[in-house]
Amino acid sequence: MNAFSLAGKTALVTGANTGIGQAIAVALGRAGAHVVCAGRSSCDDTAAMIDKAEVLNLDFADPMAARDAFDARPVDILVNNAGIIRRADSVDFTETDWDAVMDVNLKAVFFTCQAFAKAVFARKARGKIVNIASLLSFQGGIRVPSYTASKHGIAGLTKLLCNEWAARGITVNAIAPGYIETNNTQALRADPDRNKAILDRIPAGRWGRPEDIAETAVYLSAPASDYVNGAVLNVDGGWLAR
Ligand code: NAP
Repeated sequence: MNAFSLAGKTALVTGANTGIGQAIAVALGRAGAHVVCAGRSSCDDTAAMIDKAEVLNLDFADPMAARDAFDARPVDILVNNAGIIRRADSVDFTETDWDAVMDVNLKAVFFTCQAFAKAVFARKARGKIVNIASLLSFQGGIRVPSYTASKHGIAGLTKLLCNEWAARGITVNAIAPGYIETNNTQALRADPDRNKAILDRIPAGRWGRPEDIAETAVYLSAPASDYVNGAVLNVDGGWLAR
């Protein structure tokens, strides 16, 4: 058996239309999985890059949106990638920006995990969950209070779900990406001062690429990581080691 093969498995990736989610969907497909490319925007472009793929409209404006997603098809691997960020000084931060981020980044992740686990347990099957955390699962950041709270929450939730579900056949882990080249970070990379400050702190000396996260997601979805449980794995070029 190839410990990194996902042949015969079905994976569902949220926010699969772009950025890290798209790279993860493509990498899981390349490892042999059938991939359900889920998003609020069209995931047709992503699905076209994958041998065995389908698209699913999933908008976490309703954090319970995935409640039925696992009834229509057996899913073995869930990657909770969709996420948003809102920036403002904490003294001015609005309830709207607090709730919007917490709903997509944390509440939707929990209830999507719950729907996935119910379906896996009902099938008496095994499963893998990969949550996308952040450096702000460990650090405080600045002017992003709801994002930091949500990503700290993802780290805690990953450990809690591991404790409840590892013995029931679902491994739950998270990836904490460092600074990755996506739409999300375009403004930072375009600012020469911020770009230099960031690069100066990354021991690897470069921004991360979506593929760096995607290959780690393949590992955490594959039998190779069966004894990895409740981990929040930094994929940050060494940022947190500084
Ligand atoms: P991105 O390019 O902005 O992608 C975010 C994804 O989330 C998009 O597919 C987006 O869909 C989806 N999404 C947002 N709101 C949604 C909703 N209500 N329902 C369904 N999908 C929704 O950002 P990215 O950099 O690839 O980020 C992916 C994940 O990595 C996020 O969880 C982010 O926090 C995390 N992360 C990124 C970095 C980085 O440096 N890039 C670092 C640490 C963690 P639309 O395209 O339709 O908006």
